[in-house]
Amino acid sequence: MAAPVLLVTNDDGIRAEGIRALADGLEGLGRVVVIAPDREQSATSHSITLDRPVRVNHLSEGWLSVEGTPTDCVLLAANSLLGEKPALVVSGINHGPNLGDDVTYSGTVAAAMEGHLLGIPSIAVSLSTGSGALHFATAARFARRIAAKLLEEGSPNGALLNVNIPNLAEEAIRGIRITQLGKRLYVDSVIEKTDPRGKPYFWIGGSPSWDAGKNTDHAAILEGYVSVTPLHLDLTDYKAVVEMENWTL
Ligand code: MN
Repeated sequence: MAAPVLLVTNDDGIRAEGIRALADGLEGLGRVVVIAPDREQSATSHSITLDRPVRVNHLSEGWLSVEGTPTDCVLLAANSLLGEKPALVVSGINHGPNLGDDVTYSGTVAAAMEGHLLGIPSIAVSLSTGSGALHFATAARFARRIAAKLLEEGSPNGALLNVNIPNLAEEAIRGIRITQLGKRLYVDSVIEKTDPRGKPYFWIGGSPSWDAGKNTDHAAILEGYVSVTPLHLDLTDYKAVVEMENWTL
């Protein structure tokens, strides 16, 4: 049987350190093909390019850059460039965490969502960067373990997996925990300043923080565990559906 095709993409751009570590880490699990944006596309969420042609550049064997978003990459790969549906989509390794409510902003997670929508087992992998050296090789070893398990078992309940890895040396990581998304805490998330011409401007972002409640992704990272959160895309609030049955509209 032909080796399964593993599609690797990201939102930091094809030249990012994280995607190279991920491609290296998955080597041997299948035929690794990297199809990723030609430039940084962080926080582009699940956007798709509809208003212009999308061009693809062959950089080297198994490495293609796309003038588009992470979602464009997965769509082009699965519907055209690979000539077949990949066995797995692995997105990352993102430079920075994708925790809690932030998954809705993330281009890294959106690429895995697109794979999930296409019926492909999919994983988003992020390194919770902080100060000091970045442990991409360690993160890639955990990504490989989780990818191998997903190839073996298929998606649990059809879920996509959002993986966050603490930025620690391998021996300092305490294990892998199955978690739930935490809540983002909005601290100084909009900063207002005045430009040199006296006009106000805003800077969005501030210093992100998340609650670290029991079983949350953030708590796992803080305690030195790899966090694996299974996600699905049915955003329906079923309790609200029941509550609204009594509404007169
Ligand atoms: Mn990113």
